Amino acid sequence: MINLNVNLNKLNDTSIDILAFGAHPDDVECAAGGVVLSTTASGGKVVIADLSRGEMGTFGDPVSRKQEAELASKILGLQDRIQLDMGDGNIENSQKNRLEIIRLIRRYRPKIILANAINDRHPDHQKASDLVSQASFLSGLKKVETIDDGILQKPWRSKAVYHYIQDYFIEPNIVVDISAFYKQKMSAIKTYQTQFISAVDQQANGTISLLKQIESTNCIFGRAINVRYAEGFTTERYVGTTNLLELL
Ligand SMILES: [Zn+2]
Repeated sequence: MINLNVNLNKLNDTSIDILAFGAHPDDVECAAGGVVLSTTASGGKVVIADLSRGEMGTFGDPVSRKQEAELASKILGLQDRIQLDMGDGNIENSQKNRLEIIRLIRRYRPKIILANAINDRHPDHQKASDLVSQASFLSGLKKVETIDDGILQKPWRSKAVYHYIQDYFIEPNIVVDISAFYKQKMSAIKTYQTQFISAVDQQANGTISLLKQIESTNCIFGRAINVRYAEGFTTERYVGTTNLLELL
């Protein structure tokens, strides 16, 4: 586990608002960067945990991708960023990996957990989605014991797990207006220079670039709620209320 030491804002207590997991560095930026920015802009605390170092990507290597992740983290205003090494292209929903995720959940005690898309083109995404979902539940069980820094951790269950939407179109349960943060989100994504070289090549071949894909996805979700740009999420829970007016 590598702590990227990007905690520009010192973590004063151990409870954060959002812990966002991504199978690869840049997953969270591309699919939920706007939500991260809107949270940190209003003083919320966000930590990102990358499950792999992205070493199997066609472009870049672990060293360059780590530097890119550090830069993106500063733009996003993260409290912290953790890079695990579960193996790019081979992320497994194993007991060992579940315990690693549980250790992070119990360390940061997030209100909300963000996870990869429930179904996607890259097989790591669905596997990471299942892995994080199951670990999020198990984290609340007292008899699942984890040690962090030599101390037995207390159980913690977050209020919600939301899955962002990546390459495949999935109908969202929640859409979040990110129009005010769209430009900043794209700046964070563009720090991953090794990944977006390919975008230029694709454009030259007449197909849609990765950046354009992200823009069009955000436009489609934005259209659903009549705003310019939005990010979509699926939920594992119902949104309950005693007063419909609260949802307006
Ligand atoms: Zn990915």
